[in-house]
Order: sequence, then C-alpha cells, then structure tokens
Amino acid sequence: MPAIDTTLCPLCGQANACAMAAGLPAADCWCMAAPVSRAALARVPEPQRGKRCICPHCAREVPAAAADKIPPSSPPF
Ligand SMILES: [Zn+2]
Repeated sequence: MPAIDTTLCPLCGQANACAMAAGLPAADCWCMAAPVSRAALARVPEPQRGKRCICPHCAREVPAAAADKIPPSSPPF
C-alpha cells in the first residue's frame, strides 16, 4: 500500500493547499475560511478520511442534493 501524500487531494489528485500538510498552523488553512462540501467529504475513501484534506476546488463542488434536480438525460435546451 503506497504511503498517503497528505499534500494531495484524495478526490482529484491535485495539490490541496492544506496548511497543516505544509507544516503551517491549521488556522492558516483555506478550509478555516471557506465552506467545505459535505458531499465531497463523503466521497473521500474510508482509509484516507481524516488523513488527507480535499482541495478548494473539490470542496466547492455542487452539493449532491442540488445536482439531483437536473435529470441526466435532459437536453441542453
Ligand atoms: Zn480536489
């Protein structure tokens, strides 16, 4: 099993810009000032939950409840 890189987002693999992973105080992290999507957190694989932070982009994704209102087969117009 590969070591967990705490600087990368477990959802998209991009840098998560986590202050704690960079050795800075947690208070300096973007997640202290920005809302984090619970739906995004729920998609983090169980072994990595609580160990790796997601990135600002994934944290801002549309909540599942809102996305469900758009039928997947609907035409664009
Ligand atoms: Zn991400």
